[in-house]
Amino acid sequence: MNIKNITIDEFNRLAEERQTLNLRLNESNLDQYLNNQPHKSAQFEVDLQFDTLSTGDIRLTTHVIGTIAIECVRCSKYIDFIIDESVAEIVTSKDTLGQKASLCISDILSDHGKIDLLRLVEDTIYLLIPMHPRHEICL
Ligand SMILES: [Zn+2]
Repeated sequence: MNIKNITIDEFNRLAEERQTLNLRLNESNLDQYLNNQPHKSAQFEVDLQFDTLSTGDIRLTTHVIGTIAIECVRCSKYIDFIIDESVAEIVTSKDTLGQKASLCISDILSDHGKIDLLRLVEDTIYLLIPMHPRHEICL
């Protein structure tokens, strides 16, 4: 299974089997998001956990642990920013978003009808990185 290119059937099977995928990412995975924000080494370990809910919707929980060295906006020295977070998203296959769903499966399908799980994880990590990182006290 290529996590950048999985089919809806594979996606549903991951959820039915309540699988967890373990991924290791580094700074190159975030370059497309961070090209205007100075950063260097990053190491992330990610567990992407699939679940099927009683509503038939799929819950994707992304557990991210790791660090990224990112430039302080005040002093320009690097900060080792630590991320240790879990983010859950509810993916629905129905046409209308339910009250609890945050994503519609059609929103995450590529033109070829595939799902890029790596991209979803990268999007999630990017949201956890501060837009304007700064030291509490610059030295
Ligand atoms: Zn600083």
